[in-house]
Amino acid sequence: MPASFVFFAYLSAQFWAAIRHSQHGFATHPLPSAGRYTSDMNFSRFPALATLIFCGLPPLAAQVSPPASQPATQQAPLQAPLQIAITFDDLPAHGPLPPGEFRPEPIRSILKTLKAERLPPVYGFVNGFRVAEYPYQIELLREWIASGNALGSHTWSHPALDKMSAKKYIANIAENEPLLKKVDPHGDWHWFRYPYLEEGNTLEKRDAVRGYLFDHQYKIADVTLDFGDYLWNDTYARCAVRHDETSIASLHDSYLATADEYITYSRTLSQRLYGRDIPYVLLLHVGAFDARMLPDLIALFRRRGFQFVTLPQAESDAAYSVDPKVAYPGGGLLIELTASARNVNTPDASEPEAQLNRMCR
Ligand SMILES: [Zn+2]
Repeated sequence: MPASFVFFAYLSAQFWAAIRHSQHGFATHPLPSAGRYTSDMNFSRFPALATLIFCGLPPLAAQVSPPASQPATQQAPLQAPLQIAITFDDLPAHGPLPPGEFRPEPIRSILKTLKAERLPPVYGFVNGFRVAEYPYQIELLREWIASGNALGSHTWSHPALDKMSAKKYIANIAENEPLLKKVDPHGDWHWFRYPYLEEGNTLEKRDAVRGYLFDHQYKIADVTLDFGDYLWNDTYARCAVRHDETSIASLHDSYLATADEYITYSRTLSQRLYGRDIPYVLLLHVGAFDARMLPDLIALFRRRGFQFVTLPQAESDAAYSVDPKVAYPGGGLLIELTASARNVNTPDASEPEAQLNRMCR
């Protein structure tokens, strides 16, 4: 394929992506645009510009300007497809349900979508206390495994590490293990997802918990893409009680627009840190609105050029093997912790929580 054609096709794709983004992106969405993160420049208001600056230019330069003496076969390869691993937290139950919907439905709907969309095995992170409250819910964990997906630990009762001693937190992780052994005796369930992504507000606490995890053969299920999906589940349940279809349609649009904005956020930060797109790990929850939106969310990622991989595949990338070794109160993405450790600024991104909290009251 001639380099000039590759260049033209690439530029066209970037241009149309930019047009689509500016038509449907968060900049034109009625949610507030207060920044969630410290920023040196508000790229969330210029997603097309950010895409071109951080994603388009390096590969373009590599394709358009090979050294004159370089044979065609040695030219820089086209950028590999973007990769993402979807993961779900809070199995077997998350958030309120709309009227007429019962607890098994979100998980069964999610499993149906994952199968229909032919996604590779997806990790779901379990809080055992839910099964202690409602023993029948162990069947939802069994259905998750039987569908070819995988389970990991999210602690027994979902505590916040910032508000708990390392000793109690470690006991809470250990308390979850008998259930995981029982439902998944042959699976690789030694993957741990920190509730609230809080890995320790002091280095001592952080090191103590990691010490337990590594001594017990756990791997940390880092997150590198999070758009606050859980926020929509409460609002959806409230709007459904009122049969407010107009608001529910608006929730549909804002969920996808926010996901799209945070794709740009994580890609921009990845480019700043690594000069490339790492394989991303997306945090979702097993809520009713997440289940309803999953087909459209998968379609959005496909439109943005992503292919789906497993969590172990994504985290085999070198970016996930570097421990940023920072205390980070309030929790954050691995790329945010890494940015903090390296004094790299994070991009701005809007925060939809206040607007969602006001709806359908
Ligand atoms: Zn959680």
